[in-house]
Formats: sequence, structure tokens, C-alpha cells
Amino acid sequence: MTKICYLIGYPIEHSLSPVMHNTAFKELGIDFSYRAINVESHHLRSFIEETLRRPMVRGANVTIPHKVDVIKFLDEVDPLAKEIGAVNTIVNDEGVLRGFNTDGFGAFRALIEAYGSLKEMKVVLLGAGGATRAISYYLLKEVQSMVILNRTERKALELAKDLRKSLRGFKVEIYGSLLTKARLREELFDADVVINTTPVGMYPNVENTLICKNFLNKKMMVFDVIYNPFETRLILEAKDVGAKTLNGVNMFVYQGSEAFRLWTSRDAPIDIMTQVVIKALEEKG
Ligand code: NAP
Repeated sequence: MTKICYLIGYPIEHSLSPVMHNTAFKELGIDFSYRAINVESHHLRSFIEETLRRPMVRGANVTIPHKVDVIKFLDEVDPLAKEIGAVNTIVNDEGVLRGFNTDGFGAFRALIEAYGSLKEMKVVLLGAGGATRAISYYLLKEVQSMVILNRTERKALELAKDLRKSLRGFKVEIYGSLLTKARLREELFDADVVINTTPVGMYPNVENTLICKNFLNKKMMVFDVIYNPFETRLILEAKDVGAKTLNGVNMFVYQGSEAFRLWTSRDAPIDIMTQVVIKALEEKG
């Protein structure tokens, strides 16, 4: 019997997850099928109870706007996903639904691969939403200090407070603050890594960036979690000043590869998945 994995969100028409996962299943000869389905918030509970628990369903990816709300409908949640407060992957083990968060794993693997160790480093994160939360919990075990700057100050302060509660012996200085030009200039002056975890610069608003080019320098590593466009204005300007850069493609592929492993217990064919995602992005233009 073909096993099904769903992507649930609203809207999900432009997601690259179906082509990435279906190519991966085919490559390994696994009898799985990945289907994206629009689920509006008022149908989330019924979709989970009536569809996700069925024996032919192996699990799901969860995307905006359900990553937080889905938690209350699951039977078990991985401790880290619980701390992050968001689930992007569900596994159906004979009717028992378990939730995980693979976004932080994906970002962390992409960062370490691109930059090596982040030990002793100061990281500045722009944003305080789901992606920021997922990434910041993974950074705790690695970095020396973390500054979270967000348009809504309350969320930056809350995330910094939550992170401090989860330190478990790690010695990391963590601050949250309102995102202003002045604060950004000050924090970027001695930053080693800057990560944009907001949608600013994403297609179609490709002219937008939160960071003035003259705040960037060649000693910095600049990571933008956006992958459409492939190179955001932030990434292009960072390249211009000689900084090392990383776009969101590898994070996307690695979060998918970890979900793939959770569903199939097999290592995902990462090279093929990367190729198919890049090709799909190029076709989108
Ligand atoms: P989210 O939970 O809605 O959070 C969005 C964050 O961006 C919030 O902190 C929000 O600030 C901030 N923001 C939004 N518009 C802004 C603006 N105009 N100026 C300044 N700040 C702004 O979304 P998310 O799930 O974290 O996703 C964020 C981005 O990450 C999206 O572009 C998403 O596609 C991308 N992402 C990529 C991957 C990947 O695999 N590469 C995975 C997950 C997410 P407020 O708190 O003030 O609203």
C-alpha cells in the first residue's frame, strides 16, 4: 500500500516540498506519495482526526499558519519542538501522532556546513517568529552571544527570555530588542553572523532589505533564510562587500531531509533534492 505524506498549510500552492519529496521517494524506490493540501484553520482539527490518523498516512509537513496551532491536536511532541513552540513535521506511528520541528536542524546544518564552527561567535537574528525560534534554539549549544532584533519588541524580549530559561549550562549572552536602524548599526559593528529570518526581500518584494549595505562588512557571514529569490537583495549586497553568504535553499533541503528520515528511516538523497529545488526555482524565474 502506498504511504502518503501531506503538506498542510494555507495557502500552499507555491511550495517546492511536493516536487522535492516525490523526487526523493522515486530516487530511493520507496512507495510513498507526497501531496500538498490547503487546510484552512477551522478545518485543521477535522483534517488531523479524519485524515492524518488513517493507516495509509505516514505523516505530514506543517506550514504557515498551522505550525503552532497543530500542537494541541498531537499525541506527543518532541521536547525541542515543545520548547520552540512549533511543529513542522508529524509522524503517524500506527495512529499515534508525534510532532517534530526540523527547521532549526535544517538551518543549523546549513550554517555549520557553510561556515564551520560558530563557537565564540556573536550572532544577530532579525525576526522573532517561527523560523527565528527554531534556529535560535539550535544556536544555543554553539554561539557566544545572540541578539534578537524584531519589529515587535515584545516578541524579541519573550524569545530572549524563553531561550535564557533553556540554557542548561551553556554560557550564551542573549538579548532581545526592538529592530531600529540605530540598534542594527550598533549590533552589526562587531557581529560575526547575521541571519535574516523575516520575509523581507522575498518574492515579489525583491527590492526590500532590512539592512543598509554600509552596515555590512567583509568579515561577516550573512545568512538569509529566504530562497525565492535565490539571491535576495541582502545576499547580493553582502557579496558586494565581500561577506560570506548563504541563502535559504540548503536549510529548506535539510529540513526536508530530516522529515524524510523521520518518515522512512532512510537517509534522504540530498544531492538530488537540492538539484530539483534549484531547477524548480530557476523555472519560476
Ligand atoms: P513568522 O512566524 O510569521 O515570523 C515572521 C517574522 O518576520 C516576525 O518576527 C515579523 O515581525 C517579521 N517581519 C515580517 N514582516 C516584516 C517587516 N516588513 N519588517 C520587519 N520585520 C518583519 O514567519 P516564519 O515562519 O518565521 O518565516 C519567516 C521567513 O522564513 C519566511 O520568509 C519563510 O519563507 C522563511 N522560512 C524559510 C525556511 C527555509 O527552509 N529556508 C523555513 C522556514 C521559514 P513581527 O513579530 O513584528 O510581526
